[in-house]
Amino acid sequence: MPSTQKIEEVLDYIKESSPGQDEFYQAAEEVLESLRPLLNEDGRYLEHNILERIVIPERTIIFRVTWLDDAGKVNVNVGYRVQFNSTIGQYKGGLRFHPTVSLGTVKFLGFEQIFKNALTGLQIGGAKGGANFNPKGKSDNEIMKFCQAFMSELYKHIGQHKDVPAGDIGVGAREIGYLFGQYKRLTGEFEGVLTGKGLNWGGSLARKEATGYGSVYFAENFLNVYGKSLKGKRCAVSGSGNVAIYTIEKLYELGAIPVSCSDSRGTIYAKDGINLKALKAIKEIHHASLEEYATVDCACSYTPVSTYPKGGHAVWHIACDVAFPSATQNELTLVDAKALKANGCILVNEGANMPTTPEAYEFIKANGILFSPGKAANAGGVATSQLEMSQNASMAQWSFDEVDAKLKVIMKNIFTTAYETSKAFNDEGNLVMGANIAGFRKVADAMIEQGAV
Ligand code: NDP
Repeated sequence: MPSTQKIEEVLDYIKESSPGQDEFYQAAEEVLESLRPLLNEDGRYLEHNILERIVIPERTIIFRVTWLDDAGKVNVNVGYRVQFNSTIGQYKGGLRFHPTVSLGTVKFLGFEQIFKNALTGLQIGGAKGGANFNPKGKSDNEIMKFCQAFMSELYKHIGQHKDVPAGDIGVGAREIGYLFGQYKRLTGEFEGVLTGKGLNWGGSLARKEATGYGSVYFAENFLNVYGKSLKGKRCAVSGSGNVAIYTIEKLYELGAIPVSCSDSRGTIYAKDGINLKALKAIKEIHHASLEEYATVDCACSYTPVSTYPKGGHAVWHIACDVAFPSATQNELTLVDAKALKANGCILVNEGANMPTTPEAYEFIKANGILFSPGKAANAGGVATSQLEMSQNASMAQWSFDEVDAKLKVIMKNIFTTAYETSKAFNDEGNLVMGANIAGFRKVADAMIEQGAV
């Protein structure tokens, strides 16, 4: 059967069997469409029904999370863990706590995670989880109660050799601490069941920084191919969470000028560069809005969401050489891509998962802007999680510089793998295709070798 027909059949199946899961469909469509040259070259993947198999999670766990707030009222949320694919290693992928989390969100993230994890060159399978819980406005005690209730079900399905969750949006060091504490209480085991742990109890130096640093290393590798570098480049960054903050930090280290950041309420533009110390204090210590940053850095301007360009995001309308979308999915639209082009942007480097809409990506590709897909550019986080697991297993603790050096090598390897694969399939520099084919091939070959399981 020709690959085109098979891809359409599988996408139709997803549409019919997963109604309302638009983000999952979007992620699957992007991957499957880009596999066409590989499927045409090697008939084994269709023969072994790999496409049909890879779009169905091995296991989906959906559970009720009941917890008491500070007023003694009973609250209820929905928790998820999608264990998508364990062909090349135990399940690994973050947990997201955000009111928009649904089964479709977790499936899209888990599906992306399969290929991302394969691209790192490490032996890790793909998973993702989370809950439709909104941490904003909750007390520390309420966050702890929620995390304990969430883990009271999740602990039955995870383990250091089975499934090792990490953080994502809304899940940082504080939440990982509460989740780990509850796991230990319920199982009586002190084991590396989560990554992103505190440094005194099994965490790895440089894990917190890894996704942002890795994203910047990836961009530097890409620019170097064309005889360019980040030095002196004006960079627009979105988000102001874990990924955005450490993207900004590494950009400064490489001599670039990060001129923006954003949150769900507005965007900061600082012509001479974001004040990183102030940003960290506001976001990592006070957990406050960027409106507060605007009161500290008087040279900056603040644009609230209500005044954003129609159908777009203010951050992408700031003149920049390189764009680092580092907040959330579908945050960079066609309107935004056109503004980036008009302002001379040469590279869009995805720090977040799937932040670029399909229409924006088509425009970026057609207009010769370089593009780094998130599943390659943001893989530094999960790669360093695996380094945390290695340290836990050997009871060792590596220095910050050792971990950072390993991260740098891993990001170079991921870039080279995606880039060389794009060349091998006659579309040099198309890293969406390169990353998807390289990640898919590694998992699919292993699925064939392991038989019909
Ligand atoms: P954080 O929760 O630390 O930060 C998220 C940031 O994005 C916040 O500034 C948040 O603003 C903003 N944001 C979230 N949702 C929206 C929205 N709907 N509209 C506008 N802004 C929004 O998350 P991370 O930094 O960890 O994650 C960011 C992205 O990177 C996600 O796509 C995640 O999946 C991806 N990623 C993260 C990894 C990691 O190691 N942490 C690894 C690989 C990928 P506000 O605080 O106002 O909500």
